Amino acid sequence: MKQLTVISGKGGTGKTSITAAFAALADAAALADCDVDAADLHLLLDPSVEQRMDFTGLPVAVIDSDTCTACGRCREHCVFDAIDASFVVQPAACEGCGVCAYVCPVDAIEMQPRTAGQAYISSTRFGPMAHARLYAGEEASGKLVTMVREQARDLAGEHGRELIIIDGPPGIGCPVIAAITGVDLVLVVTEPTLSAIHDLERVLNVAAHFDIPAAVCINKHDINEENSRHIATYCQKMDVPIVGRIPYDEAITKAMVQGKTIVEYDDGATAERIRDMWQRVQQRLEEQ
Ligand code: SF4
Ligand code: SF4
Repeated sequence: MKQLTVISGKGGTGKTSITAAFAALADAAALADCDVDAADLHLLLDPSVEQRMDFTGLPVAVIDSDTCTACGRCREHCVFDAIDASFVVQPAACEGCGVCAYVCPVDAIEMQPRTAGQAYISSTRFGPMAHARLYAGEEASGKLVTMVREQARDLAGEHGRELIIIDGPPGIGCPVIAAITGVDLVLVVTEPTLSAIHDLERVLNVAAHFDIPAAVCINKHDINEENSRHIATYCQKMDVPIVGRIPYDEAITKAMVQGKTIVEYDDGATAERIRDMWQRVQQRLEEQ
């Protein structure tokens, strides 16, 4: 079973539109939306939820006021300032480290599990999909990404799918590492802006650090040809192939408004380029 993760150093580069187009072109993959902080693959794939599960994130400290002697040790040791002057834990500030429970001399603090989000198993017109939603302000999105990937693997096994296409989170932090670890190929979608180039460099370094094969797609490559050339030079230096150059095209937004992928929306030049890129990506996956 092969796994492809589509990522971008920053949000808004067109990553999800390209992932959804790949889902349409593959038409025999299991899908995973690992952008759990801002999931939006569902906007294009319109999943029908078949199963919902609570996601238990970091635990939260709870102080039993009957047992507490107000000695103050927990407040002194909580580096997150999560315990107020009345010795009540503010759940939004608690990072679940357990230090307060450890230092409390009268065992007045219990670490309790808390629901931090929901995970879903769904069906889409292109195949089964695992996805999730992390509640606002909750941490542990790396753990939720791992859960979504495990569910996608199970789905691929159940449905006999030989490929998992993963929509990865933006950035280079823990959730991204959880989304790319062990995959066969990472496709980095970038655009020719200075901030996107900076993020591309960081994300390619992360992939190289974990020894994961990478390829690059330059989206809206024609909005700044000079920066696109800069990306090409950098990729050559890093020995990373550019598998697609997608022009700026309002058809992508129009397709999105209709809830369609660009390859379903029309057979224009952009759809054609994405089809070509998919061929190259498949070739790379087969080589791994
Ligand atoms: S578990 Fe950690 S963060 Fe939460 S209140 Fe206790 S010491 Fe503070
Ligand atoms: S360490 Fe325990 S006893 Fe002391 S204030 Fe905190 S909860 Fe109360």
